[in-house]
Amino acid sequence: MPEDAGRVTGEAGSESSRSSRSSQSDSEAGLSARLRQIPAVEEILGRPFVNDLERRAGRLLVREATREALEAWRKRITTGDEDALAAESLEPEIALRVQAQLAPSLRAVINATGVVLHTNLGRAPLAAAAVESLAQVAGRYSNLEYDLAQGERGKRDAHTDRLVAKLVGAEAALVVNNNAAAVFLALNSLAEGGEVVISRGELIEIGGSFRIPDICAKSGATIREVGTTNRTRLADYASVVSERTRVLLRVHPSNFRMVGFTERPELRELAQLAHLHNLLLIEDLGSGCLLDLTAHGLRDEPPVGQSLKGGADVVTFSGDKLLGGPQAGILVGNRETLQRIRKNPLFRALRVDKLTIAALEATARLYLRQDLDAIPALRMIRAPADSIAMRAQRLASRLATLAGLTVELESGESVAGGGSTPGQSLPTTLVSVEHLRCSAQEVACRLRHNRPPVIARVERDRLLLDLRTVLDDDEEEQIVRAFGQLTVERR
Ligand SMILES: *Cc1c(COP(=O)(O)O)cnc(C)c1O
Repeated sequence: MPEDAGRVTGEAGSESSRSSRSSQSDSEAGLSARLRQIPAVEEILGRPFVNDLERRAGRLLVREATREALEAWRKRITTGDEDALAAESLEPEIALRVQAQLAPSLRAVINATGVVLHTNLGRAPLAAAAVESLAQVAGRYSNLEYDLAQGERGKRDAHTDRLVAKLVGAEAALVVNNNAAAVFLALNSLAEGGEVVISRGELIEIGGSFRIPDICAKSGATIREVGTTNRTRLADYASVVSERTRVLLRVHPSNFRMVGFTERPELRELAQLAHLHNLLLIEDLGSGCLLDLTAHGLRDEPPVGQSLKGGADVVTFSGDKLLGGPQAGILVGNRETLQRIRKNPLFRALRVDKLTIAALEATARLYLRQDLDAIPALRMIRAPADSIAMRAQRLASRLATLAGLTVELESGESVAGGGSTPGQSLPTTLVSVEHLRCSAQEVACRLRHNRPPVIARVERDRLLLDLRTVLDDDEEEQIVRAFGQLTVERR
């Protein structure tokens, strides 16, 4: 809160004290008298209300909150913002401070942005089956590394690896913490001390400071750039292959798209070149979709299986992008190469926990059953435009009944997000809301402070809601309620 605002309310509430501050020495004497009235920490802690709070929230937090509340009070008195208070008026402030400490920082929010894999909002929401599966094992023991048939130690890989390999048609699979870890582990296992050849057009940066050259350097491999930003030919790769070369690396550009005078070899050609020289071809696919989503407007996202068929020895991708599962990095490819990666001690350092395994396994089984609509990210991407339009219509007419709002429908675009499919969008219907007195920014801010927070789009001073990423009727209801709150407060 701006200091001025505090001062205005402070003075308005202390009409009677103003006359006593008529001369300076008076006010100085008054000030020290008021400061002396501030009770000691121990006195506050002895009060029944605070005692009770201590029983519920623990001694540590309550003591800290009490000290802070007293300190804030002392400051307000010193700056003349407040007069002496009775001790009990401090109680609500202490309770609020304790509450703020205990409120969870990581919370569910409603995503009305239309960005399906919104990295800031946690990328893919998990399927109900995945949530159920991780809830099952979270609070209990599990056969994480225990072979129930043999009654002996097993491997945690057993739960996901064969399943994932089967889904993409690979000989083998491995799961680590995220795709950044997968790329790092693959390069470190297969190219440490040697050279990795990569096109200058693929030296990319993904949000969150993942940069191919940096990851490559940290893996202990030396990068050998070939070609130019927009054009790299097979001959460029061939010309730098030497006895130091270990790997040809192909990276899916993910979050940007080059148009115009561009060229790069087919994956198949790169694979042939690699194998001719006894090298390995690694492809970092980024998003890694298991299906062809072209029919739903997402071109340029080659399915993982296609890369394997094209001859890549190892393909890496994320678990929480187009796959729609938990955060994970998945490596698939031929058995022998993946065994080399599995033996790297760094694999142990990058391994996933049981919650990830539970969620990933459950998500993979949904693919196996071809129950794609059970995977929220896929359901949202595949949602037909007319069903979104119908929901938008329904929401708009409900919001229009609230005082002070002007509501309109307009056609717009949703995006897959998560660094996938740049420049491609999914047609949607947006609900545009204007408030009689508040700017779009202000409304967006108030929606963010709603419980649960509602995250909307602001474009050209208009507040836009895209229902593609609003999960269900319940969330829609919460949005209506959030606007209801807003109009009650700001009529
Ligand atoms: C997203 C992405 C990564 C990083 O994946 P995380 O799972 O976020 O670690 C790496 N490479 C490419 C090409 C990507 O698109």
